[in-house]
Amino acid sequence: MKLNIKNIFTSELPADTILENSRRQVSEAVYSFVKPKKTKKPKVIHVSQEMTQELGISEDETKSEFFKNIVTGNEIYPNTKPYAMCYGGHQFGNWSGQLGDGRAINLFEIEHNSKNWKVQLKGAGETPYSRTADGLAVLRSSIREYLCSEAMFHLGIPTTRALSLSLSGDDVLRDVLYNGNPAYEKGAIVSRISPSFLRFGNFEIFAARKDLKNLKKLVDYTINHHFSHLGNPSKENYINFFKEVSERTLKMIIDWQRVGFVHGVMNTDNMSILGLTIDYGPYGWLEGFDFGWTPNTTDRQNKRYRYANQPNIGLWNLYQLANALYPIIEEVEPLEAILNQYKIDFEKQSLQMMKTKLGLFVADEDDIKLIQELEDNLQLAETDMTLFFRYLSNFSEASTAFKLIENAFYDLENISKDVKKRWDIWFHKYENRLSIERVSFEEKKQKMNDVNPKYVLRNYMSQMAIDEADKGNYDLIDELYQLLKKPYSEQPENEKWFAKRPEWARNKVGCSMLSCSS
Ligand code: AMP
Ligand code: MG
Repeated sequence: MKLNIKNIFTSELPADTILENSRRQVSEAVYSFVKPKKTKKPKVIHVSQEMTQELGISEDETKSEFFKNIVTGNEIYPNTKPYAMCYGGHQFGNWSGQLGDGRAINLFEIEHNSKNWKVQLKGAGETPYSRTADGLAVLRSSIREYLCSEAMFHLGIPTTRALSLSLSGDDVLRDVLYNGNPAYEKGAIVSRISPSFLRFGNFEIFAARKDLKNLKKLVDYTINHHFSHLGNPSKENYINFFKEVSERTLKMIIDWQRVGFVHGVMNTDNMSILGLTIDYGPYGWLEGFDFGWTPNTTDRQNKRYRYANQPNIGLWNLYQLANALYPIIEEVEPLEAILNQYKIDFEKQSLQMMKTKLGLFVADEDDIKLIQELEDNLQLAETDMTLFFRYLSNFSEASTAFKLIENAFYDLENISKDVKKRWDIWFHKYENRLSIERVSFEEKKQKMNDVNPKYVLRNYMSQMAIDEADKGNYDLIDELYQLLKKPYSEQPENEKWFAKRPEWARNKVGCSMLSCSS
């Protein structure tokens, strides 16, 4: 396996001068050199063929011992020096100081087809940033990250990618419910891929330490390699850089809202500077449409990262990034203008996104009201979001509409007359509203199906794949992986996955709520 290796990141940015792999504060450095831990019995259980092609790796090569050893940290690719990054972050609204890659180790950069990719292992052992934890990852959370990041890519949503999913062969101790019942689970390693794994927190840590020299170095590097279309680094371009990060962040979150994805832990250390979905932990997909829903048990009290709050949190996080960049910009107004623009753009883009979900294209001043009434209705009785919007693309007239969508209700038998009436009222308004559109039924249906996925990675689906994998059967991982490559397409052979969450999954751990334990 001959890879076109680069090391631009480590050659341009300052390294930690201490080489010892001990837990500590690391100053004046963007990263620390560190070696992955050797594992007992590594085994690759899935490889993303789309990703291998992007990297210039052949299918045959992915079957080699060498590939296995590289993607599990058991061998280091010749002439490369793995490293862990230093970053800080605001967690649940509070500054946490240094966090860093506690269990992520970057292997190298690959350049292929004029694209530069960073290859990173998650769960490959301790780093100086591991704090009180072990640097490892368990199979269940690794399956979830592996499947979901590739699924997001195929949904057309900006995301980090995954190359491989492997077992380490080591056991890892975890207290899943944080209730004093730790147990051993299978350890796993995902190899993740991204043009950059830089987070808001990489910039915040230097600002917090008043290390403006390195803050500037990192911003200059980021502009030169990831925002080079802006031109050379300058004060003006620091502002333009922030503006683009803000726009990308908003675009990503609007996409999340469109498909009902809830990230679960939108701390600033989990916010990519490229506006990519990153760090798949206790995320989830809305089943019953519910603005107040969060999958993360750690956030059960405040629900800071609930579905409806994601756009606000995106903005809050951008405020933290603005604060971090301020010392090298030294002007408040342009930063404030960008943050204000986020709010304006959010209103605009959110409306536009909801309109496309409904197949509405021309302008009408009552659209905001129509959409609000729809969102109210969706919360009257538990209504499956994915099913609802997919069924709605077949809408032709109000009189038959309820029948069309009734399977989206979790408890159809107990839908009250009042609820049904409110749906009838809304369907009549929708029918009237559609009459001013100029597209044909078929065209409208196609356009709606292009933005309303038929298949998403519901938590119970992952959990089924996890339960099977625990027993050594990885077929379901591949089945879901294949299914989610075409999330917007009709796949008659896969109709069984176009269904509400089964009742057995309603309160099962891993299906309805997840902890951060991973
Ligand atoms: P998260 O909330 O999962 O994004 O993680 C927050 C911080 O905790 C990051 O710095 C992670 O690297 C670190 N972390 C999470 N799990 C582990 C682990 N098992 N070992 C070491 N560090 C971890
Ligand atoms: Mg994280």
